[in-house]
Amino acid sequence: MFDLIVKGGTLPDGKVADIGITGEKISAIGRLDAAQAGQIVDAAGDLVSPPFVDPHFHMDATLSYGLPRINASGTLLEGIGLWGELKQVMTQDDVIERALKYCDWAASMGLLAIRSHVDTCDDRLLGVEALLEVRNQVKDYIDLQLVAFPQDGFYRDPTARANTIRALDMGVDVVGGIPHFERSMADGAASVTELCEIAAKRGLQVDMHCDETDDPMSRHIETLAFETQRLGLQGRVAGSHLTSMHSMDNYYVSKLLPLIAEAQINAIPNPLINIVLQGRHDTYPKRRGLTRVKEMLAMGINVGWGQDCVLDPWYSLGTADMLDVAFMGLHVAQMTSPEDMRTCFDMVTVNNAKTMGLTDYGLRVGTKASLVILDASNPVEALRLRAARLCVIAKGRVISQTPRGDAALSIAGRPPMSRRRHTPGGDG
Ligand SMILES: [Zn+2]
Repeated sequence: MFDLIVKGGTLPDGKVADIGITGEKISAIGRLDAAQAGQIVDAAGDLVSPPFVDPHFHMDATLSYGLPRINASGTLLEGIGLWGELKQVMTQDDVIERALKYCDWAASMGLLAIRSHVDTCDDRLLGVEALLEVRNQVKDYIDLQLVAFPQDGFYRDPTARANTIRALDMGVDVVGGIPHFERSMADGAASVTELCEIAAKRGLQVDMHCDETDDPMSRHIETLAFETQRLGLQGRVAGSHLTSMHSMDNYYVSKLLPLIAEAQINAIPNPLINIVLQGRHDTYPKRRGLTRVKEMLAMGINVGWGQDCVLDPWYSLGTADMLDVAFMGLHVAQMTSPEDMRTCFDMVTVNNAKTMGLTDYGLRVGTKASLVILDASNPVEALRLRAARLCVIAKGRVISQTPRGDAALSIAGRPPMSRRRHTPGGDG
């Protein structure tokens, strides 16, 4: 007897199977007897996927767009300055309210695991306290991992070092950094070393904003790979953004990529934000600023797309939709072959789960029963349509339902319904 059976869905690998859920776990996958279910969710013809995962977000800043003003230049640096102004006036309740609203959006979009940076350059650590509270409040439906992020520079800001350590003591999960924002290349490299040592000593993962710049000489990723190797942190370190790699010399990159692969560093490009923030100092041709995604994947490096920002000082749009993120990434990285498009779906699901170290993830017997049913027949169609999340299940419970994306038509001689699903030679 199952508490719930998801009936007849198509899994991302194309197999059709029922998924039996008992309590919070997946207890069977295969052909299951509907009479054995307390509840049936019909997924016939629809894609059933493990939930979306976002490995790079800023939940303390989200939904603050326009507070106290908007980013006029659209640059990263004005965004950091603007966030500094907002930090002076925001309250803990504001942060919690905005973050919980975002988590509602995420749940409705089947986004059930999020790694959020939280700014530790604030003597009150108001954002840290707020997001620790949010992490606890959403734990039944979203895995929220927090990264201690010294936004104003681990050394550049006079109290960042002490506050970052204090945040880790308070229970923040991951060690962050921003080496390209320190005062010198030497300080940037030193910050990578010290932060990796802190992580190694505490047994924590590392996730740094690394080389989020168009400067091809910004090479902190090299130090990050070196320290990962030296301290035995292989597989537990992520480099976020890595945009300078877009502008680097090809010869240097031919040395760098094997070092990243050897250190098993996870890479997190954030395509919506990278295409908006990078290249702002260029005239024409304008650089895209996205890191070398296809080349890293070809080296066997784990790469996943991150959302980074929604309605905040750096980005004025966004809906917590990881399919939007993958859709943009697919275009900017020119990942348009069938295999590459399929990979883009993995990059917002299984690849990101690997980056976050989620062991209890995926459609397998014994894992947590969290999944999403999409109004699409396969992962590429889900990307094309940014398909409706028909049903979202978290730990065995249905937490969100959305109608299909069909439209009613009133056009003489045409069908009454337009359904944009389309499988070449298939179900229409
Ligand atoms: Zn970020």
